[in-house]
Amino acid sequence: MTTSVARSEAALSAAVPAPGRRATAINTSRVADLITQLIVELGEDPAREGLVGTPDRVAAWWSAFLSPDDASTATCFTESQLNGQLVIVGGMSVWSLCEHHMLPMNLQVTAGYVPDGEVMGLSKFGRIAQHFAGQLQVQERFTRQVAEHLTDVIGREDVAVAVRGVHLCMSMRGVRMEAARTTTAHMGGRFKSDPMLNQQFLTFAAAQWNAT
Ligand SMILES: [Zn+2]
Repeated sequence: MTTSVARSEAALSAAVPAPGRRATAINTSRVADLITQLIVELGEDPAREGLVGTPDRVAAWWSAFLSPDDASTATCFTESQLNGQLVIVGGMSVWSLCEHHMLPMNLQVTAGYVPDGEVMGLSKFGRIAQHFAGQLQVQERFTRQVAEHLTDVIGREDVAVAVRGVHLCMSMRGVRMEAARTTTAHMGGRFKSDPMLNQQFLTFAAAQWNAT
């Protein structure tokens, strides 16, 4: 198992460029043409029966993958009695594409926060994870983006995000280590300053991953 703990936000934002969000919609017919060319360059015949519809299917997939739901509208509910209780949402599994090899990575996401008079709609967590998975990514940046978005929505720094990733670029190429898992974690506010809270969160995240 490879473990890398995400560094502080300041260090990361200095080192990591802003993620590439498209300004315009995907031109699917142009993408399909390019896939046809790729098939030819790979020594295949794009006119053979099994490949006839492939460029269109691949182009449609790219378009869908790069157009995830908007994560910006958050639903928060007032719960004035609630503060100091730990809320953890685990078992969220999203697929993304590693930007170094354009191969899939499966990201198991656990997110937690400490509410203070307001709680966030639970389904929102999965939507946020899906939103940031729908781009060419690296796991470290994904972890930070999910954490920063949750921090914005909740309006507090008390947010933790842990991600365990399986990267096909490690499993099916290069070192071919199928059992390799990459773990990243972002701890903000009390999750950083309170060792008990930090440990509670990581124990829960590990239990989620071991159960899958
Ligand atoms: Zn890769």
